[in-house]
Amino acid sequence: MERKLCRIVQVDGVVPIPGADAIEAAKLGGWTVVVKKAEFKSGDLAVYFEIDSFLPQGNPAWQFLVDKSSRNFNGVVGHVLRSIKLRGQVSQGLLLPLAIDARLEALGSAGIGADVSDLLGVVKYEAPVPAELAGVARGLFPSRVSKTDQERIQNLASELEQWLQVDDLSWEVTEKLEGSSCTFAWLDDDLHVCSRNVDLMDAPGNSLWQLAREHGIAAEFASLYPGRNLALQGELVGHGVQGNIYGLRDQQFYLFDVYDVDQARYLVPAERLVIAQSMGLVQVPLVEATFRLPPANTMETLLAMADGASALKPDQLREGLVFKAHGQELSFKVVSNKYLLKH
Ligand code: AMP
Ligand code: MN
Repeated sequence: MERKLCRIVQVDGVVPIPGADAIEAAKLGGWTVVVKKAEFKSGDLAVYFEIDSFLPQGNPAWQFLVDKSSRNFNGVVGHVLRSIKLRGQVSQGLLLPLAIDARLEALGSAGIGADVSDLLGVVKYEAPVPAELAGVARGLFPSRVSKTDQERIQNLASELEQWLQVDDLSWEVTEKLEGSSCTFAWLDDDLHVCSRNVDLMDAPGNSLWQLAREHGIAAEFASLYPGRNLALQGELVGHGVQGNIYGLRDQQFYLFDVYDVDQARYLVPAERLVIAQSMGLVQVPLVEATFRLPPANTMETLLAMADGASALKPDQLREGLVFKAHGQELSFKVVSNKYLLKH
């Protein structure tokens, strides 16, 4: 699912920030954004920019942010929205009035939920990928395989309500590892090693291919699953990857999903375990095997639960948690706000 980085929203509410008289906190689904006092009130239409939005310079509506702190992304100067704390209040993203652009005003309330990222020229910021991970492309990411992604809990306020009504819905909770997404796809009895977006050539020094060889992935697939089309998806962590927050000397692969290409679906946790064991692969750390959503203050409780120590390094805050339903193909991520504020 592509995230709607910028969208038209209706403000759920505005609450004061203790001790602050010039700013207050606006609520939108599970998100809280600090805004100027009296700029918005409950029910107002506005445009919301999620964290990780890259705001290119030149738009007067957000030039003050570019002037404050800027970064170069794909040759363009702009500002990247990050989680921050203002007067003790966590603030995530940016909220602006529709008046910043006549086209937004023209959409009005009919535009609620509309993705206006393209219209405003906003893209998702991606950190540069080191050469040994990026590698040389063999082709595009195989179209038969689903790309790895997880929706943020903050965007699922109404879904949470629905899930609470479903009897017997329980979840596997695993640690969200901060690394690089890696897919080992077995397609027509041929191994494809892919980064998040690219099918990679088996070039010397490529970390992902090296891991595939270390684990004997091609041989395992050939002997255990001949003729099947399956994709193992996991996180590559360690030396040289995303700052190596776990302080590992080597690089390691932790399986988090198996996509069954023939059935065009993700396997549920129990099915995934069978494959992980048969191939001798380590899975992402398990935090809760069978978890039920708490009926009260669900969003707040899950966000608080995400804060914690990593199973890979006890004195390191974990990036967050990923929830996957046991009986059906449902999943979401809860990134730790504590982690976001530190990194
Ligand atoms: P993000 O890193 O914010 O883009 O969140 C989605 C990504 O988290 C996925 O594409 C995976 O690469 C990664 N990830 C890390 N740990 C897990 C996990 N336990 N379950 C699922 N995805 C994970
Ligand atoms: Mn990530």
